[in-house]
Amino acid sequence: MSAAIVAQVIRKEIAALSAYHVQDAAGYIKLDAMENPFALPAALRQGLADHLASAAINRYPDPAAADLKAALRRAMNIPTHLDILLGNGSDEIIQMLAIACGKPGAKPGAKPGAKLLSVEPAFVMFKMIATFCAMDYVGVPLKSADFSLDEAAMLAAIEEHQPALTFLAYPNNPTGNLFDAAVVRNIIRASPGLVVIDEAYFAFSSGSFLAEIDQYPNAVLMRTVSKLGLAGARLGMLIGASNWLSQIDKVRLPYNINSFTQSAATYLLDHAEEFTRQTTVLVAERVLMAERLAALFARHPQAAQFPSEANFILIRVPNAAHVFADLKARKILVKNTSQSHALLHDTLRITIGSPDENAAFLAALTDILEPRHA
Ligand code: PMP
Repeated sequence: MSAAIVAQVIRKEIAALSAYHVQDAAGYIKLDAMENPFALPAALRQGLADHLASAAINRYPDPAAADLKAALRRAMNIPTHLDILLGNGSDEIIQMLAIACGKPGAKPGAKPGAKLLSVEPAFVMFKMIATFCAMDYVGVPLKSADFSLDEAAMLAAIEEHQPALTFLAYPNNPTGNLFDAAVVRNIIRASPGLVVIDEAYFAFSSGSFLAEIDQYPNAVLMRTVSKLGLAGARLGMLIGASNWLSQIDKVRLPYNINSFTQSAATYLLDHAEEFTRQTTVLVAERVLMAERLAALFARHPQAAQFPSEANFILIRVPNAAHVFADLKARKILVKNTSQSHALLHDTLRITIGSPDENAAFLAALTDILEPRHA
């Protein structure tokens, strides 16, 4: 009985979705979700505990999160002429943007609804949130050889679809590469709508649009502290001109950043040198991982890795489903991206972990590709 009511009430696009799947990771070496593997040093933990103890948990949080924004400005050198809008993770910011820009399904024969454009493969939430918010989604494939932007295809899609919102992750997830900045600029200039440069992986990347975002009347920058080492806090940010951010802010739920997150992130961002130290280690580990994979793959011409400016590396291995299962049997959890897009066949995305975790992964992968015969 209730199934019929559910089918009647729930929008058909939502019923057709599969929920965002998070793998159960208990007991595994966790290299699946781009988290920072390092715990906080003891002194910082104690300082954090003291700081949190004074949080006024009986009160609603500061709706403007003024202290936290000031700490983010200091930690990321965000100039005062750019505004900041905070989200419960950058996921929530993507959703706020889609809520604010989405135009509902048109009547037959009328103008089409607002469109959200991104590349493929990209972060899956761009497409999912377009569906949540009843925006039409347009995905433009990246070039298959190196996952670079197909400039001609992007410009043609922008011309044809006139997207209200365009998302480009810089570096891109799950491929790890930085797009050609000149092509990104051309896309911004050609876009009739708002272009969001998603710098979720800024801490590991050699490139950023922060210094030039104010040159474009139709571009904003999105970041998160998740990959930096604060994934549990759920804190993302949009950086840009106030004429954009003040509009998006209207659809933000009043107290979306809770008091504990505000307090913890403010304290920890004022000790950002620890995250700089940790991310420097992770970048060095990524370089080492790439070198070691290159040495291993030299003996396996069908295997490949893709250059990364993030805290993960995408690899292609023959029979990736088997390699994924075999790694899992050895208690190493990576992300099997093989089924998520045609261009990603036989790929696995490996988050860079601690030196020990990375060594364990490489030993396991070597063993899987080159089984030792007893
Ligand atoms: N953008 C990109 C490109 C991502 O890869 C992710 C996380 N995987 C996010 C945004 C969302 O990050 P969060 O919600 O943790 O801030």
